[in-house]
Amino acid sequence: MKIVIKFGGTSVGNGKRINKVCDFVSKLNEKNQIIVVSSALHSTTDELVKLAESAKKGKMELEVFDIITQRHKKTASEIIHDKKIQNELLESISVLLEELEKTVNGVITVKELSNKTLDKILSFGERLAVLIISAKLRDAGIESKSFTGGEIGIMTDENFGNASPLVKVTQHNIKKNLSGLEKTVPVITGFIGVTQQGEISTIGRGGSDYTASLIGMCFDVDEIWIMTDVNGLLTANPKIYPNAKTIPQLSYNEATEMAIMGSKGMHPRALEPAKLANIPVRIKNTFDPEGPSTLINEEVNVKKDEITKAITIINNLAMVTVSGMNMVGNIGTAGEIFGILGRNNVNIIMISQSISEANITFLIKQNELQKAVSVLQVGLLGKSSVNNIHSDDEVAVIGIIGAGMKGTHGVATKLFSAISSKNINVKMIAQGSSEQNISFVVKESDCKLATEAIHKQFNMDK
Ligand code: ASP
Ligand code: MG
Repeated sequence: MKIVIKFGGTSVGNGKRINKVCDFVSKLNEKNQIIVVSSALHSTTDELVKLAESAKKGKMELEVFDIITQRHKKTASEIIHDKKIQNELLESISVLLEELEKTVNGVITVKELSNKTLDKILSFGERLAVLIISAKLRDAGIESKSFTGGEIGIMTDENFGNASPLVKVTQHNIKKNLSGLEKTVPVITGFIGVTQQGEISTIGRGGSDYTASLIGMCFDVDEIWIMTDVNGLLTANPKIYPNAKTIPQLSYNEATEMAIMGSKGMHPRALEPAKLANIPVRIKNTFDPEGPSTLINEEVNVKKDEITKAITIINNLAMVTVSGMNMVGNIGTAGEIFGILGRNNVNIIMISQSISEANITFLIKQNELQKAVSVLQVGLLGKSSVNNIHSDDEVAVIGIIGAGMKGTHGVATKLFSAISSKNINVKMIAQGSSEQNISFVVKESDCKLATEAIHKQFNMDK
């Protein structure tokens, strides 16, 4: 089989783990053609963000720079035994770290951080990671070569920070660059690409999954494996509900709903390319590769007693209600409200308007609440139709997901009777027309109890 295997940051978090990853790849490589995609070593991307943010204020975070330096150099010295490979690797790491330092110093000088420069700074995590993994494979006697996303041919638009791949050229490039490498294990950076101008771009936090899926589609592989630190996608967040179970199989659409709803373990756009090319995706645990895992493919399996497959939660949200008796029948109020928020870059997560039209409620990230309320106050000043803006922070959205809900009667009744039996107040409800997801808003502190109640109500404990 031809398999793209993506390792997340925790999977390659330290020397021991990288050794484990490389053992796993070596074994699989005996009978399959393997293409590795890797994230940055655990927490490196977050540290790079810190480095960039301080640089913008004119300060070099020496401590953070030192942590990044030590992590990569120490890991390299620890796990590579062949002196020649080790020296070359340490040299390449130093070259990258110097380039990082120069870039950060540039930001410090001008005290300005464009999205383009931020992307360049963030790219170092993955670029350092693939050097080490590829060297470790060579150290173990396996032919291997590392590539950046740009080197392998991932071309994107110039929307730095959240760039979109230009699929046709990317496909052409990847096919060309990967064929002829049958005997070599390519180790490719997740998360980063390059623009037509040759500038490094990133495709959004957590984007390595998307990279793996994209490469899988472009190179027409048999399977895409996403290696993470849990046993596949789970029926609920195990931190909230320890009895959560691995979901054995999901359709692309069900899994996409989960990813969009913030389920740990997948980038929201990751499944697009795999779905287009109809390539099965497996989500496996690096630390328990034979254990339970999730298969995502085109099959829509609905068992009678399995109407819902997963419960997801998005935390740290705030709910804002704009109200006024004069809003009733007043055309353009909604346009005005969302226009103001849009122009101020506030992302809206969920919207509802009651039939009375006297209020519009929407959900945003908690950390955007102050900005949202103040721009609305200024923007709606003097508009007599709106006379109150009320906000409620510390709310969360709970979503239940499953293709079986489509056309099934009584799901909402079952859901909300479970919720009300625990005396939990539901603040807002939405169901998309896909009918594969019902979302509702509760107080953040009610999430745990709600999850327990739903899990039991829908028989997900089995
Ligand atoms: N390293 C990047 C991040 O932390 C990309 C990824 O992990 O997928 O967001
Ligand atoms: Mg990740």
